[in-house]
Amino acid sequence: TDPRTINFGAGPSALPESVLEEACKGLLNFKGTGIGIAEISHRSKEFTSLVAELENNIRTQLDVPPTHKIIFTQGGGTGQFSAVVLNMLARHRLLHPNLSDEQRVMDYVITGSWSKKAAEEARRLGGATIHIAADSRTESKDSKSFDGIPAHENFDFSADPALIYYCENETVDGVQFSNDDQSPASFPFHLLPAGDLLPLVADYSSSFMSRKIHRLADHAIIFAGAQKNIGPAGLTILIVRQDCIVDVDAAAKLGAVPVPITLSYKANADAGSLYNTPSTLPIYIASLVLERSKKLGGVEYFESLNGKKAQKVYSALKEGEEKGIYRSKVREGAGSWMNVTFDVLGNNAEAKFLAGAEALGMKALKGHRSVGGIRISIYNAITEEQTDKVVATQEV
Ligand code: PMP
Repeated sequence: TDPRTINFGAGPSALPESVLEEACKGLLNFKGTGIGIAEISHRSKEFTSLVAELENNIRTQLDVPPTHKIIFTQGGGTGQFSAVVLNMLARHRLLHPNLSDEQRVMDYVITGSWSKKAAEEARRLGGATIHIAADSRTESKDSKSFDGIPAHENFDFSADPALIYYCENETVDGVQFSNDDQSPASFPFHLLPAGDLLPLVADYSSSFMSRKIHRLADHAIIFAGAQKNIGPAGLTILIVRQDCIVDVDAAAKLGAVPVPITLSYKANADAGSLYNTPSTLPIYIASLVLERSKKLGGVEYFESLNGKKAQKVYSALKEGEEKGIYRSKVREGAGSWMNVTFDVLGNNAEAKFLAGAEALGMKALKGHRSVGGIRISIYNAITEEQTDKVVATQEV
């Protein structure tokens, strides 16, 4: 029997087995150097060419335009909650040196616990007024759960904010923006303030490389931790428009909040993501994952596979709702392709569902501790067969 179980965890999460097997070899002997990947210098030509390959794989698979740089860093999504604020405050200071903190505004769209956390960090760092441009809780039944995307009429963006922030996929709550502009659950790009170089920032931590990034070129910054779709924790990927790579020290001289050097986009970009020692092993594994994905047909392949997987899970969920055994945590149209969240109804039914799944070799289906219930995470490495298996789970 296979000692590996099917891991539906929300992150760190499953990686393709073929990649893990290949990585075992690289741990002992990386690219024929006789030195393992965790031991080799990050300045060696073998490693620097790996960084270039990884960047190229992301650029080509996502069609990242030349206006945007790709940067690899550390600190996770949480590190970027701080970094986006500090770099964008510096940029805004250089553009508008004389505004007071009250006049300098940062817009946050709150659709779940991760965007809420990001807004809290912005508030903690200071330097600007935080304006909540929309909050999905105001539309929820109990006015406290994150169960959908706010209606477009409830968005209220500022005229010239230092940043406009949203989280594309809320991993805990299972809410995702639609990539169809006609959907009421889409991000209201048409309501953004006028101007070319808008400071639009998106957290793509739990959907990066799962499908095309909708309107990528309209974004100032896209960031993602690697530990959902593309690799181990410890690698953070940034796609940053060049006008957002600013001289943070010049901004600090004008009164902006100083930026720690490891968080400065300019320091990292100027050094080709090698300002200091990068997370070499996660970069290696991510590059194996994306080489495999290129061979399979790139992000389009995963978009079609993930769409099918999500459709299977959501139709089983709907059937269960009709039978009165499940209740979705998310309103129709806003359900995430990556994290499906629902409650199992009935006395002790959730425990029985989890036991049934475990008996069939499936684990990590318990919802986040803050919301409870079940969460099925179906990231890129989860196959269609594994999805069929979770859909067929019966309570025991
Ligand atoms: N944003 C999202 C959407 C996430 O899912 C997570 C982690 N689960 C984070 C941010 C925080 O990332 P990290 O743990 O890498 O700091």
